[in-house]
Amino acid sequence: MTAPLSRRDFLQVAAGAGAVVSMTTPWTPADASPRAIGEPPPGGWFDEPMRWVQLTLVENDPGRFDPAFWLDYFGQLHADAATLSAGGIVAYYPTEVPLHHRSQWLGDSDPFGELVRGCRALGMRVLARTDPHACRDDVHAAHPDWISTAPDGTPRRHWANPSLWITCALGPYNFDFMDAVHREIVTRYRVDGIFANRWAPQGGDCYCVHCRENFRRASGLELPVSSEAGVPGRREFLEWRKARLTELWQHWDATVRAANPEARFVPNGPPDFKTAGDLADIQFADYQARHGVMPPWANGRRAKEYRSVMGPKPVGGIFSVGVEEPYRWKDSVQSEPEVQLWVAEGTANGMRPWVTKFSGVLYDRRWLPVVQRIYQWHFEHERYLRNEAPLARVALVYSEQTAAYHHGVADGDRPEDHVLGMYHALVEARVPFEMVHEARMTPERLAPFRLLILANAAALSSAQCAAIQAFVAGGGNVLATFATSLFDETGSRRKDFGLAELFGVSFTGRIDGPLRNSYLSLDASPGTGRRHEVLDGLEGTPRIINGVYRLDVSPTREFPSPVTLIPSYPDLPMEDVYPRVPHTTTRELYLREVGGSRVAYVPWDISRTFWDVLAPDHGRLLANLVRWTANEPAPVEVDGPGVVDVAIWRQRRSIAVHLVNLTNPMMFKGPLREVLPIGPLRVRVRMPGGLEPRTVRLLTTGAAVPVQQAGNVLSITVPSVGVHEVIAIDI
Ligand SMILES: [Zn+2]
Repeated sequence: MTAPLSRRDFLQVAAGAGAVVSMTTPWTPADASPRAIGEPPPGGWFDEPMRWVQLTLVENDPGRFDPAFWLDYFGQLHADAATLSAGGIVAYYPTEVPLHHRSQWLGDSDPFGELVRGCRALGMRVLARTDPHACRDDVHAAHPDWISTAPDGTPRRHWANPSLWITCALGPYNFDFMDAVHREIVTRYRVDGIFANRWAPQGGDCYCVHCRENFRRASGLELPVSSEAGVPGRREFLEWRKARLTELWQHWDATVRAANPEARFVPNGPPDFKTAGDLADIQFADYQARHGVMPPWANGRRAKEYRSVMGPKPVGGIFSVGVEEPYRWKDSVQSEPEVQLWVAEGTANGMRPWVTKFSGVLYDRRWLPVVQRIYQWHFEHERYLRNEAPLARVALVYSEQTAAYHHGVADGDRPEDHVLGMYHALVEARVPFEMVHEARMTPERLAPFRLLILANAAALSSAQCAAIQAFVAGGGNVLATFATSLFDETGSRRKDFGLAELFGVSFTGRIDGPLRNSYLSLDASPGTGRRHEVLDGLEGTPRIINGVYRLDVSPTREFPSPVTLIPSYPDLPMEDVYPRVPHTTTRELYLREVGGSRVAYVPWDISRTFWDVLAPDHGRLLANLVRWTANEPAPVEVDGPGVVDVAIWRQRRSIAVHLVNLTNPMMFKGPLREVLPIGPLRVRVRMPGGLEPRTVRLLTTGAAVPVQQAGNVLSITVPSVGVHEVIAIDI
């Protein structure tokens, strides 16, 4: 049961599964627009499926597993697309392609065909899964040049199953043999596409005759002798490998489309994200579960990375139900809260769930009802999950070049840690945010955002720097840290920052660190005697800890000086631990107002150190810097206890605010043992211009929620969040 909302009314809004929302005025395309991402919606079938399943058969499944059981389960999940094992290492259908190994248990059966027919009867789309990365002795004997080769010329045995050989991914095995396999599958079964697992080089770089010759022809160079960063020819090799994989993608895709124009080749993992954005109609993030020390928001981050190039095109999140790494217990089953949280992070951040299970014969069946519950929720609330555009106003730049070609400014400076720290600070600050890929910083793509964050985005081209400057010239704001723009797109160091003019500082050429026992003095402005607002919440102290690395910079204009350096002093013996220089004029934070825009530059490794030691003062300073540079109220604010990942999305006729509860003693290292609910959370949602809320519902709780409206701000109290709650606002 729902009730209409009107301004300044205080309402008890009942929310519940299956509640029907009545629309009093019809939706019109003119008021729903927001494919603001600057890309057209995709045609074809790709945007249809919301829930995916994958069944990967093992060789002895034929005759032993029960296809009817799986088809029945797919129906229970309301799955609308499946990926099913077809061929490659093992063919699960009566293939006619020479050397394509039929399952020894196949007999005269066709389990792939049977599953395809069953899925079609359920109205599902079907991708055929192939895996080209290994082959048998007969293939090796017939075509020794198809096998991946070590630098010394030795053909590679498979690391996990030495009775197999690893195939060369970039030579005729894939370009010819697997091409024939793909043609046969799509022609015979008219599937919607081919999904190839492990299609990129496996087990190390290949030095086969084809790879040597092709690389020489493309680059004029010999293959580099090792895979270490910085080895001569290494960058050229990485570029060539990427180009060769892109060529393979296009080659297979042309074959697939020739057999069925509606179908596509879908790689499991693109050569790089930029290429995925260029070529793909649909992508899947194969990021199945947590292992080691890993926050649950990692899955949400992967979603944002894919969407940073895919825009509104669909992205699926592949998740497994077991804990596999590092010892690959493929038959294991995770705890329900762990699976729930991982999938919730993907869903909240715009991915569609894809459960993957291998082996048609099951041992531990505990995951079946878990996934059924997740998919049932997803099915019931699909209309609030079919997103049109995110409404976040903050974007973190995803620099793939930095990850690939920048190796830090010093030992111990891992570029990835700067991003992880910034990501975590944004989550802790409950800031809804997107990621923007460095290759896609067009005015259209940047238009929805108020603030661009560059967390040590070190490797940026001149054109990318110009795009950032244009964003600021157009009224946008920037928060940048550390070595941002100090390197070009190939990872070569510039003399000065590419964004020196924007930051208002120049690099002196000196890098300090690792610093021990250094501090930051929190200074009052000389004019007012008060501290700058970026220091709010730090009133109790004259100083906080410094980072570990700093770039020495000199300002090229006048700056206020809210934070200055207190240099390192001995941390032992204890008798010696006192500051030798208690105060300096060396600024450690540069805040500018340029026209209507704000620019903050931090010359030290604030987010790297935050990831390293998670000091609350650094988290507070980062949150304050985001708030100051954004210079507008956030679209969603959440008060209350806990660590909550917040996302806000627009659908055709609604707005959905996702709250994912990350609060758990196992937040950084799964698996979760139990769900620890948090609440009440007081949530304020700013309705985007001109949009009027009609009804508000909580999708998970299904309880009445009080809602108050003042101006364009809705105030909603969410009594409790287990793993995932969605505030659904019909407009
Ligand atoms: Zn090769």
